Amino acid sequence: MSDIRLLKITEKRLDILKLMNIESLEDLINHYPYRYDVIEETYPTQEDDKIIIEGTLISPVKIFFRGRMSRMSFSVEDRYQNVYQVTIFNRHFLRQYLKQMTIITIIGKCQKDKITASDIKIKPISEIQGVHPVYSLKEGLTQKSFQQYVKKALNLLKGNIESFVPEEYIIKHQLIHKESALWNIHFPQSQEDIKQALKYLKYEEFLKFQLTMQTIKQQRTLEVGIAKRFDVQKFQSFILSLPYQLTQDQQTSVKEIVSDLQSPRMMYRFLQGDVGSGKTVVSSVALYANYLAGYQGALMAPTEILASQHYQTLLSFFKDTDVKIALLTGSLTNKEKERIYEQIQNGDIDMIVGTHALFQKKVEYHRLGFVITDEQHRFGVEQRKALKNKGSQVDFLIMSATPIPRTLAISMYGDMDVSTMKTMPKGRIPVVTKYIKSSSMKPILKDLKEYLASGGQCYVICPLVEDSEVLDAKSASQIAEAMQQYFRGTYQVGLLHGQMKDDEKDRIMQDFQKQKIHILVSTTVVEVGVDVKNANMMVIYNAERFGMSQLHQLRGRVGRGHQQAYCFFMSSSTSKEAIERLKYMEKSHDGFEISMYDLQIRGPGEVLGNRQSGLPTFLVADVFKDFPILNVAREDAMRIVEGYEKRNEYYHLMSTIQEKLKENNEYVD
Ligand code: ADP
Ligand code: MG
Repeated sequence: MSDIRLLKITEKRLDILKLMNIESLEDLINHYPYRYDVIEETYPTQEDDKIIIEGTLISPVKIFFRGRMSRMSFSVEDRYQNVYQVTIFNRHFLRQYLKQMTIITIIGKCQKDKITASDIKIKPISEIQGVHPVYSLKEGLTQKSFQQYVKKALNLLKGNIESFVPEEYIIKHQLIHKESALWNIHFPQSQEDIKQALKYLKYEEFLKFQLTMQTIKQQRTLEVGIAKRFDVQKFQSFILSLPYQLTQDQQTSVKEIVSDLQSPRMMYRFLQGDVGSGKTVVSSVALYANYLAGYQGALMAPTEILASQHYQTLLSFFKDTDVKIALLTGSLTNKEKERIYEQIQNGDIDMIVGTHALFQKKVEYHRLGFVITDEQHRFGVEQRKALKNKGSQVDFLIMSATPIPRTLAISMYGDMDVSTMKTMPKGRIPVVTKYIKSSSMKPILKDLKEYLASGGQCYVICPLVEDSEVLDAKSASQIAEAMQQYFRGTYQVGLLHGQMKDDEKDRIMQDFQKQKIHILVSTTVVEVGVDVKNANMMVIYNAERFGMSQLHQLRGRVGRGHQQAYCFFMSSSTSKEAIERLKYMEKSHDGFEISMYDLQIRGPGEVLGNRQSGLPTFLVADVFKDFPILNVAREDAMRIVEGYEKRNEYYHLMSTIQEKLKENNEYVD
């Protein structure tokens, strides 16, 4: 990193740069423009009334004042002898330069022969035409001064900016070098310059990312896992004993997971499936294979509610087997915990279901062979590592309900193998989804009452726990109270939120499950995994506050059996985009489609969670728009990682990647 003081600018300016996270010359040259203004002769078209022309002033200038506001007008003639009437507001200070026959450039909008100018320059177009970068800057810096700093930095670093991309691939993809790319992105002469610059920079970002992923993957495959052997007959008959037949995709996923278990390689697999596609049973089957091979298995859930639900599910699946299962959560008494720790340690327990409690220091496993995490985006890298480190050579399966198309998943999760489930269990009926432009329940109260009268149960989701002074959104406490009053003597209303004690949450959830509670008012703690088959109506307040994948997750709580389910997204937002998103949700029931839409609005970090932490980020590249580049970079990265030990020119590159990985501690043995 080169000292930013080489710029020789004031401390004050340096402080402003620091606010923009610019602390070295390299940071500076990597702060790219966020857009470009293009000045070139432009005539209006049918679609666009934009005009940029050079003209000669052919009339006197008229000015009208109203207070401090002004309106100036005059006539110009362009190079085709067309005459235009130009009007411009609040630029009377330019009047002194506007003599007849002066050549000026006019930028504005044009209707027939009338131009309303947004800007005029007292210069011929040849002197100002070109592409002008616009940076996002903090107050106290001008575009012009920032550009000067960048220029100075680029000059100071001249000859020292290496292309990260190996020469071979620069030639192969006809890329320019990094140094030119940086000059071009900051000081383009044309649109083509920007294009060339972006082509290099995007490819470089993706290549770094893919090299990182492939390196992690390669290091992992060097580790020897355990080839688990088990009684296939027993395994098959267990699958036949399940209450239903597995779907096609469930069968395929089971096959993939089981063959990982059997192989001497360590499993590192990502199982992605839409909400309701039935991931739980797949994980149970996999845990059973691991059990038959003689190993303990752990299933980790992001919430207490989900953990205890999974526990119940496993108990019912394994009721006719010898499998011993324990639930380990934070709400157990110390004594109970101690007992379970002991049983885990001496091997009395075969499968452990729980929350983060599963990987606390005190928990020591007898013979841990397999770890599954459900709804992975809730877990940090650190937490997963901690659990994995509880056993050597542990196979690892991550389940996620924010599925993305397979090809994209392979690129985004390049260090893992991916299984994808698209088919839904038979007999699923899409949830009738309605966007209701309202901030209160009134428009759907009749539907709700009828539904409750028919014996159904309902979720009511609110964005907040308590009322907020800052946020204008419904709180679960307030809504629960109002509904309790309204339904007094007819239906039971329960309240559930993340700030409640674990055992209380558990009790409420059980009461809901047992139909002692008819209406469950809740925050998004029910978002992941909760499965109550008799609850088939959901009302979501302030739906505009949730991401689309999250709405789809929430909606996935209903319609899990064979009954028609209903979901109402309530929102009084007037934002066009918000309404568009909710209307999209009315039509789409496909988690793959929805996550793609969501990813484009909010970006991978938000939607897919913190898996990306420690990995290179994308400044200019876009995983969707630039997907073809991502794919090419992936193939190139695979080739580089395979052959780098024999090739000097790759060696340097790979050491950079490996160093970065160590720094971020992303990969630990
Ligand atoms: P998710 O993938 O969202 O975690 P779950 O595992 O909770 O989905 O399964 C959703 C529902 O579908 C559960 O009620 C489960 O019992 C049911 N289910 C799963 N697989 C099948 C199947 N093959 N046939 C019928 N029902 C199934
Ligand atoms: Mg689930």
